[in-house]
Amino acid sequence: MKEDFPKNELEFDSRFSREPACQEYLFQLRWPEGFVCPDCGHTEYWKSARGLYLCRQCERQQSVTAGTIFHGSKKPLTVWFKALWCFSTRKSGVNAVALNELLGLGSYQTVWCWLQKLRTCTIFPDREALSGQIEADEFYFGGERSGKRGRGADHKFKVAIAVERQGRKLGRLRMQVIEDCRAGQLIPFVKSNIVSGSQVSTDGWKSYNGLEEAGYGHRKILSAKVDDKESILPGVHLVVSLVKRVILGTFQGRFDEPYIQRYLDEYVFRFNRRTSKSVGKKFWRIVQRAASSPPLTNWELRLAPAGWPTST
Ligand SMILES: [Zn+2]
Repeated sequence: MKEDFPKNELEFDSRFSREPACQEYLFQLRWPEGFVCPDCGHTEYWKSARGLYLCRQCERQQSVTAGTIFHGSKKPLTVWFKALWCFSTRKSGVNAVALNELLGLGSYQTVWCWLQKLRTCTIFPDREALSGQIEADEFYFGGERSGKRGRGADHKFKVAIAVERQGRKLGRLRMQVIEDCRAGQLIPFVKSNIVSGSQVSTDGWKSYNGLEEAGYGHRKILSAKVDDKESILPGVHLVVSLVKRVILGTFQGRFDEPYIQRYLDEYVFRFNRRTSKSVGKKFWRIVQRAASSPPLTNWELRLAPAGWPTST
């Protein structure tokens, strides 16, 4: 697909200040090979004055937003696009309060839902798995510390994490909320996020013992001092401290715990593009995803993930 995006905010503002320009952009991303009628597969269409696309064969009417995350929204695409721009190009993202002020939507709930929808657009089905030298671990947060030792027994969240090491530099990142720290959760995380044959470094935790059998090189790093975890997997521990700072810092009291995976996904999206020189390209990727993501109702957005304790 041809890359087409505004280079900076000035260019964004002048290009997407009117509805037809946004519609046209969505059209290009949604039907990169040209319009295809979802009913009859015909490729010729008329465009109505109201911006609807009419199939020339069966006359089915379709808006460019139907079946996307913009489906059913009464707000203009220009407002959505501004939200998409802020979300995708700001270095640490944007929270609902700040975005609400910026867009003047007036409703915190609306902006909250928008941001949740945008977070679901940060994962790309065609993304490539991590490869090469990898550090893998888990981390925990939420809940009370009771002083008990163990693999995050008293924390609300357990997150599996893997990051590529390229010499002294870090490559790409993956994070996934897990139910517990047993092999039944950790090995499938590795398998679905890391190319088989890669070299995976972990600490001495027994759940990683099956890595070699699963087709990976396994480097187990044992520390003499149990508390000195930082020094044994430095890449992963650096990322964990950054994640905690952003997620617990930026969102503070307004952080919605059941949806932690979406916040992690958003973080991964930003992290994996941190060296990208082009802010506009991030915008392009998110709009591309938004144009092909099925709509989510507000009810669906609020559904807590499977396994989430309903008592909290
Ligand atoms: Zn048709």
